[in-house]
Amino acid sequence: MTEVQLYDTTLRDGAQREGMSFSVVDKLHIIQKLDELGIHFIEAGWPGSNPKDVEFFDKARSLTLTNSVLVALGITRYPGTKAENDANLLAIVNAGVKVAIIIAKSSELQVTQVLETTLDENHRMIADSIGYLKAKGLTVFLDAEHFFDGFKANPDYSLRCLKVAEEAGASCLILCDTNGGALSDEIVAAVKAVKGLTTVPLGIHAHNDGELAVANTLAAVQAGVSQVQGTINGYGERCGNANLCSIIPTLKLKMGIDCVTDEQLAKLTEVSHYVSEVANLVPDAFSPYVGASAFSHKGGLHVSGVTKLMESYQHIDPAQVGNQPRVVVSELSGKASIVYKAKELGVDLPPSGNEAQKLLEQVKLLESRGFQYENAEASFELLIHRAKPDYQPPFELVDFMVVVEKRRRPSTRKGMEEMLSEAVVKVKVGKEIMHTAAEGNGPVNALDEALRKALLQFYPSLAQVKLVDYKVRILEESVGTESQVRVLIESGDGVDEWRTVGSSTNIIEASWLALADSLEYWLMKQKSIG
Ligand SMILES: [Zn+2]
Repeated sequence: MTEVQLYDTTLRDGAQREGMSFSVVDKLHIIQKLDELGIHFIEAGWPGSNPKDVEFFDKARSLTLTNSVLVALGITRYPGTKAENDANLLAIVNAGVKVAIIIAKSSELQVTQVLETTLDENHRMIADSIGYLKAKGLTVFLDAEHFFDGFKANPDYSLRCLKVAEEAGASCLILCDTNGGALSDEIVAAVKAVKGLTTVPLGIHAHNDGELAVANTLAAVQAGVSQVQGTINGYGERCGNANLCSIIPTLKLKMGIDCVTDEQLAKLTEVSHYVSEVANLVPDAFSPYVGASAFSHKGGLHVSGVTKLMESYQHIDPAQVGNQPRVVVSELSGKASIVYKAKELGVDLPPSGNEAQKLLEQVKLLESRGFQYENAEASFELLIHRAKPDYQPPFELVDFMVVVEKRRRPSTRKGMEEMLSEAVVKVKVGKEIMHTAAEGNGPVNALDEALRKALLQFYPSLAQVKLVDYKVRILEESVGTESQVRVLIESGDGVDEWRTVGSSTNIIEASWLALADSLEYWLMKQKSIG
């Protein structure tokens, strides 16, 4: 059976997408998810290019990964210099990884016109850079930039670049369609030519400018490539990279290539949504395999078809990729999914009972107001508990007031005015009403401080709960500042992390609801443990 290794570059090439940036903490979280998914190699950054990546690789040393190996990216040494004096190569050595990938030009035009050096010097740059990293004990992959375009114009030169890399000890030669414009038959012809030249394993790195990145990747695999590079959700520069969320299930379910286990494949949808949430992008509902609508059935004929025979309008069983079929018009399926979700959270709701029906109606109402529970399970769990007649909330919000002031003191220069935020909150705990005020560096921070101040007197252990992340999303963008705002908050106590949601036309209120849910959730959990 053909073996294929998966190589993810979401954190490097994916982050090149316009508007996308990951913090060090985001990257560490995403790596854990990719490891669970069974990705073999994770390209996590370019330590020679920015200090954030150096900090990241430092922190990444403490990660324990089961399936994945971290890879650091770099570029060949500069023309006319020595590899051992190259700061970018040294940064890879210092990154503490076992595998490096080196970008090298493999197109005559790129070498002479862009790199502005001689064709022979480019070969020496490839050989020296790989040789240097090999001598430092690293496994080295070659990223043959512009390979397919170069091969088209001058195949001999491009092939020679690969041969030089092989002789220098590269463990995998990755053929790149850097500009993303190649057609599948061109990819196949070039891969076959390379196969006739070398026995070193080959990889494919395709971009999506002709909307063929996935097709070109699969064609390359059929032509004998054994490493597949891509990103989660196809994020990447310009129109993106090859989408691993489409490639992985196609390889496994349609081409019989066991690149991940069944259990790992079943995490695909979760990982896809997780990465888009961290990237603060709305998950694309219409993505193949992992989109919320990938297996939704709306038309009457389709609905009646799938109720008789599930596969009548589905190309795979959605559960294989962790997705689920959705019958858009049927209220019954909605109720079933509420019962199902509640069960996952350890709450048994009788499917025929009133409770499930009421909860469904409430979820529908709240979702129409902009709440979304798919990525805010803590808020959803609270909804379930609040629906129970014996639920005692640990506190109740009475009201709040926030003042935001921009103040210019006589001594301050223009443009250096201070922003002041102060919040006053009223919270009920049992029969007592607490009234507290606090300042913060912004209105949400001030609210958070005031709310905690009130609650800490009753629940001192709440001090360990920290806000990990705060994201705001404008819904229905066309209505401008009047539009609905959804706030997603991620909180942590050093052991667990959980996410809550708030929605309102007012960003402060949306934040207040998400904040309150976050603290209530933690207190509820403590109570059920203790
Ligand atoms: Zn790329």
